[in-house]
Amino acid sequence: MIKPEIFVRNCELPDCPNRRGLWRNLLEPQQGYSLEGRWYCSPECFELAAATAIQKLIGGMGRPQAKPHRVPLGLLMLSRGLVDDEQLKKALRAQKDSGGGRVGEWLRHIGAVSEEQVTQILGLQYSAAVFPLERSKRYLECAHMVPFHLLEATGMIPVHHLPASRHLYVAFGDRISHSALFALEKMLMCRTEPCLGVKSLIQRAIEELRKLPHDTEILAAGITDPQEMAGTILDHAENQAAADVRISGFDGYIWARVFFPPAHTDLIFQAPKTPRAAPPKPSK
Ligand SMILES: [Zn+2]
Repeated sequence: MIKPEIFVRNCELPDCPNRRGLWRNLLEPQQGYSLEGRWYCSPECFELAAATAIQKLIGGMGRPQAKPHRVPLGLLMLSRGLVDDEQLKKALRAQKDSGGGRVGEWLRHIGAVSEEQVTQILGLQYSAAVFPLERSKRYLECAHMVPFHLLEATGMIPVHHLPASRHLYVAFGDRISHSALFALEKMLMCRTEPCLGVKSLIQRAIEELRKLPHDTEILAAGITDPQEMAGTILDHAENQAAADVRISGFDGYIWARVFFPPAHTDLIFQAPKTPRAAPPKPSK
């Protein structure tokens, strides 16, 4: 027996004000709006659901991430005989005196190691491969999968895509951003594999990508209120009669993709800075 319910689409907003009876739904089918594959009956319901999703993403960005334990880069270099005690002490002193910077960068600065050696050791630290950017320009085929603005802001590039298995290899210059990888997986519905790339080669690749057209992405940096972001996304969804909208975000950015197959538009917003909890003061 065919259940009549399968013909009826119910708005996914829990407190939808327009709950309609079965017959009205059957007699007056609604166009509706889709967000992450979920159907909403009105622009108001869609906007509210989008604003809630954005708020949740922003809330997650403020939370401190658990840092996986990694052997310090300097120690790894020391144990591999790449640097000696004196060089490491010198780099650590320079880092302390300048108030920042990465140990690898300081070791390079004092001429103890090469950029390639720093990348190799970072690969060991993260248990990730180093992608041969000097030999492969495959990124030109897949970098467009992510808005250029996000690549530039994060210092990462998709370097290799395997459509059959839905795998995307993403190279980072120094720090692998797991929140970025998670956001890419959600937005592109793929599996990501992080790898390292020599920082200057990543930078060079980013400069090359900068020259390509970016007419499918819109940077709306001035809009920081979740409700306003949702309203802007709704405007684009309506103007383009979108089939679906997906929202993701990482590292201070909210990224919405408005799908109108076979094309899409990316909207990039800057998340408001969430005040971080002050670190606890040591007791006297
Ligand atoms: Zn509704």
